[in-house]
Amino acid sequence: MKLRESHAAEYGEIRDAVRALCAKFDSAYWQKVDEERAYPEAFVDALTKAGWMSALVPEEYGGSGLTLTAASVIMEEITRSGGNAGCCHGQMYNMSTLLRHGSAEQKKTLLPKIAAGELRLQSMGVTEPSAGTDTTRIKTVARRKGDRYVVSGQKVWTSRLQHSELMILLARTTPLAEVRKKSDGMSIFLVDKSKALGKGMTVKPIRNMVNHETNEVFFDGLEIPAGNLIGEEGKGFKYILDGLNAERILIAAECIGDGYWFVDRATKYAQERVVFDRPIGQNQGIQFPIAEAYIEVEAANLMRYKAAALFDARKHCGAEANMAKHLAAKASWEAANVCLQTYGGFGFAAEYDVERKFRETRLYLVAPISTNLIYSYIAEHVLGLPRSF
Ligand SMILES: Cc1cc2nc3c(=O)[nH]c(=O)nc-3n(C[C@H](O)[C@H](O)[C@H](O)COP(=O)(O)OP(=O)(O)OC[C@H]3O[C@@H](n4cnc5c(N)ncnc54)[C@H](O)[C@@H]3O)c2cc1C
Repeated sequence: MKLRESHAAEYGEIRDAVRALCAKFDSAYWQKVDEERAYPEAFVDALTKAGWMSALVPEEYGGSGLTLTAASVIMEEITRSGGNAGCCHGQMYNMSTLLRHGSAEQKKTLLPKIAAGELRLQSMGVTEPSAGTDTTRIKTVARRKGDRYVVSGQKVWTSRLQHSELMILLARTTPLAEVRKKSDGMSIFLVDKSKALGKGMTVKPIRNMVNHETNEVFFDGLEIPAGNLIGEEGKGFKYILDGLNAERILIAAECIGDGYWFVDRATKYAQERVVFDRPIGQNQGIQFPIAEAYIEVEAANLMRYKAAALFDARKHCGAEANMAKHLAAKASWEAANVCLQTYGGFGFAAEYDVERKFRETRLYLVAPISTNLIYSYIAEHVLGLPRSF
């Protein structure tokens, strides 16, 4: 049985190739890494060797020079296959920040190595324990000292750092009290993990609900060469927004993949499971929620493509990226609930993957931006309502 997915024919070659790769990493593989809370190293290696991890790296640096829309198709196919793309999406959204704002020297040094799979740029440290979503209140500071910056502070939920050589770090370079706009005075840096660990940076893993490798990171006098500053000092918040929009769009695509996976699984199970002498899918009480979930995923998919097209055209896409992430995360979560309910008790058994995917897709209503913050963005920036905080 094949679902009629909108846009299923688009990017056909990419879809076929990623599907073929994902088919080698079956349900048993994802269950094992989930159970062991292990990083899916073999999967990420295969993606790297096949060139998908460097999809956004321009051809002149050895990558494929694909668009964010194409990258979102890669992410969608991973979750659509039953896998978890949280292990690899970082490289895609961080790439947008480096490509748009990095210096020629940074690109020349790093991009060929990233394209060759020698380096991973998978990690981004923005969130802090005390600032929460109010990023302008971050307390991590970077002070210029000659040809270096000295960093002190703490990040939380810094994902994939244990499996990445490089991290993009947001730190305050001018105190909040001294800036005109509170989003001014922050800067972004490339942190080379091999030169930072034990020399002012320590990493403490956070065990969490999903198999998502994420950490607390402590900085105590970490020295970063001034050449690792991305773009101009003080403009980091503006730069990182490009990366955050890319992240929202990619995660929307992952949720779309999840949503189709849940609808597909629920549909198959509803056809096969016989109770009271008939397939449970013959009952409208089972059919209708699955149909509704499918409608929601299809609708969210349209906004995902709209947001991705705007991003690729370098147009403003903040509203669309937020709406795509919101609609897709909501749709995949509803589809997850419907799928679990359709499976009844068996939905709770790890061997069917439903409970794992249910946990995995739930994350995206909270991260990378939570629902209320999307509502407040739309209320203020699209509808012109008064700022609430
Ligand atoms: C598994 C995981 C991986 C992550 N990976 C990364 C990463 O790689 N890099 C990184 O920098 N961060 C990462 N994050 C952090 C993530 O982006 C944040 O958790 C998320 O943005 C929410 O921020 P917070 O947890 O600080 O919530 P808070 O800001 O403390 O908010 C808590 C709740 O209050 C609500 N709220 C807050 N203010 C308001 C308001 N004014 N009005 C209404 N409601 C409000 C929020 O919507 C939320 O529901 C990750 C998080 C998780 C769980």
